[in-house]
Amino acid sequence: MLVVMKPGTVAEEIEKMHKKLGTLKMDVTLVVGEQQSVFALGGDTSKLDLESLQANIQVEKIVRIQQPYKLASRTFHPEDTIVDVRGCKIGGGHIAVIAGPCSVESEEQMIHTAELVKQYGATLLRGGAYKPRSSPYSFQGLGVDGLKMLVKAREATGLPIVTEAMSIETFDAIEESADLIQIGARNMQNFPLLKRAGKSAKPILLKRGLSATLEEFLMSAEYILAGGNANVILCERGIRTFDTYTRNTLDISLIPAVKELSHLPIIVDPSHACGKWSLVEPLAKAAIAVGADGLIIEVHHNPEQALCDGAQSLKPEKFGHLMSSVQKIIAAV
Ligand code: PEP
Ligand code: MN
Repeated sequence: MLVVMKPGTVAEEIEKMHKKLGTLKMDVTLVVGEQQSVFALGGDTSKLDLESLQANIQVEKIVRIQQPYKLASRTFHPEDTIVDVRGCKIGGGHIAVIAGPCSVESEEQMIHTAELVKQYGATLLRGGAYKPRSSPYSFQGLGVDGLKMLVKAREATGLPIVTEAMSIETFDAIEESADLIQIGARNMQNFPLLKRAGKSAKPILLKRGLSATLEEFLMSAEYILAGGNANVILCERGIRTFDTYTRNTLDISLIPAVKELSHLPIIVDPSHACGKWSLVEPLAKAAIAVGADGLIIEVHHNPEQALCDGAQSLKPEKFGHLMSSVQKIIAAV
């Protein structure tokens, strides 16, 4: 349930209400907006004396939220959230493009790729140091050494870095280096990891699980928000369907649906969605056309030799081509 205070209610009145709600044995979260402050009440609200709350002249309205997620819902937070990643804004009309290899392979590779994707207009650099691989015999990532290489690439180009955290044990090291911490599809419902992300001061990129419903996806975001971290970016990366021609199926309808239900920014990963480099550009264009706040694209200087996901990686020049066609879609929408 939400208790929405009238615009311009003074801090003293907000504080009084906070104290009053604090006595009700419920979870109370206060969100101070530019115009209005809103209290989100969690737990059993059935016994609440709504009339007495409504009697307070500073209360504009009381809204019962039907969805199980509250902090992630647009009812709770009508304006788009804009997440700031080391000065790069995402959401609320700010479109960001994250590009780079699936995995960090060497310092030279990261610096070289970072320079090229920056030149073509990428605003953030990606690279996995800890890789969630289906086979234990596949390349698992360079770990801490990979994080150091990412930092070197940031130093060389100024691009903020995005990398995945797969476990609580390695979270601190990743948090120290990364500007945006990715929680991958396979960990979307790793609840202890989500709770750890909720305690982080760094923004989180939460990817949709392979077969997660929209509600489950938003509930996972809710874990992070409920932990106190308001900076969550969602990412649609394709889901499992009956078709096997593409690696996954890009659920394009999820983007406008998220926009209706939530204030959180949502970006699209066409690379993992299709698994084939030739389909990445058209899907990227479609994503922007339906209102995505950005893209995350795999780029490799030599895809045939890539240690992970070469088949879906674009060569840098192909990424340049994608950027110029995406720019046209951005201008059109
Ligand atoms: C990745 O971004 O490299 C990755 C493993 O993505 P996902 O979790 O979406 O499969
Ligand atoms: Mn990958």
